Amino acid sequence: MQYLEPAPIKDRSNPLESMMSRFDEAVKILDISDEMYQILKVPSRQVIVGLPVTMDNGRIKVFEGYRVIHSTILGPGKGGVRFDPDVTLEEVNALAAWMTWKCAVVDIPFGGAKGGVACNPREMSAGEMERLIRVYTTKMQDIFGPDKDIPAPDMGTGPREMAWLMDEYSKAKGMTTHSVVTGKPLVLGGSKGRVEATGRGVMISAIVAMEKLGIKPELSTIAVQGFGNVGSWAAKLLEDKGCKVVALSDISGAYYNENGISIVDAMEYRDQHNGTLEGFAEAEKIDSDSLLTLDVDVLIPAAKEDVITRHNAHEIKAKLIVEGANGPTSALADEILKEKGIIAVPDILANAGGVTVSYFEWVQNRMGYKWGLDRINRRCERAIKNAFNHVYETSEKHKVTLRTAAYIIAIDKVAMTYKYRGGY
Ligand code: GLU
Repeated sequence: MQYLEPAPIKDRSNPLESMMSRFDEAVKILDISDEMYQILKVPSRQVIVGLPVTMDNGRIKVFEGYRVIHSTILGPGKGGVRFDPDVTLEEVNALAAWMTWKCAVVDIPFGGAKGGVACNPREMSAGEMERLIRVYTTKMQDIFGPDKDIPAPDMGTGPREMAWLMDEYSKAKGMTTHSVVTGKPLVLGGSKGRVEATGRGVMISAIVAMEKLGIKPELSTIAVQGFGNVGSWAAKLLEDKGCKVVALSDISGAYYNENGISIVDAMEYRDQHNGTLEGFAEAEKIDSDSLLTLDVDVLIPAAKEDVITRHNAHEIKAKLIVEGANGPTSALADEILKEKGIIAVPDILANAGGVTVSYFEWVQNRMGYKWGLDRINRRCERAIKNAFNHVYETSEKHKVTLRTAAYIIAIDKVAMTYKYRGGY
């Protein structure tokens, strides 16, 4: 008797390979050497550390932590630290490579890196989180550095953790070093506008893409998957532009209201209810997966990798996808979206607002100076719009998707820089 295997929900076997298949697409057009492919396929450095932490019950628990520096060809490594139960070295490898392309697309002088610890921040006290990020920093003190590798927040971490990281690093080096980490609280040398920067970049990309497609923001409907830092700020700033956000989701489920959801209310509710929308009464609760296939103009996946797959891409009705998360669309789903004529603004462009303002934070720290919010928002908008136009023109020129165009720009820049710098 034969048993049918249940259909896998996810497409990826190995996230780095899935990312590299996009690389393959771009390389066909770029005509770069096989050596370059070999160089960029393998991360420059992968560090694995054991992290013993005294938990609140007095017992020691050992976590596994990673830092991957994919490339420093364009500058010091740059990328967030992810605290999530699903973190693996493979995932961190892919995320680090994405940071290389992201920094290249928005033209900032950083390479790509990423860190991660397999843990569940939702089940940990503030004290446990503090001890974990401090031991992680101690173990990484020779990897991190303002001119070597500059961490930042990612899923499960935020300004609070970056403050502890900065403090621990500063103690280890015997001097206060603001510029070793970005995404810090304001009083500690953080930048104005950094908290909402990734969401702002998503909003700017969405508005520019809507213009190209002839969608009027005031008449548009939007669904946002993920109501963390990126999703909630993207939703809020799009609402400010007159868009109607009809659906939201987080780990507690998805919420739909055809008349639009007040994002200010949703953010307030989340902040008063343990960080989730559970019980949010201004919208009807719907099945989480169905949010992705709602009949809306714009879909913003702002949660995790590999949520738009070959299993649901056929059913997507949005005209435009703007990727707030890193890697939300699988390589196999790309093909289906292309056939259906759905435009996807790729992650390495759409969510680059965060690392762009991180760069501004690093610059301010190094100057020992503070910029006003206006200057930061103006510069961030300019950086994302310039990058968008460059990607759009490249996609027209080569008749490729925006994703392939973004990869063409990024890989070309890295390959050219490598050529000038020279190898061993
Ligand atoms: N974690 C964010 C990202 O994936 C920000 C990285 C940074 O600011 O360095 O883009």
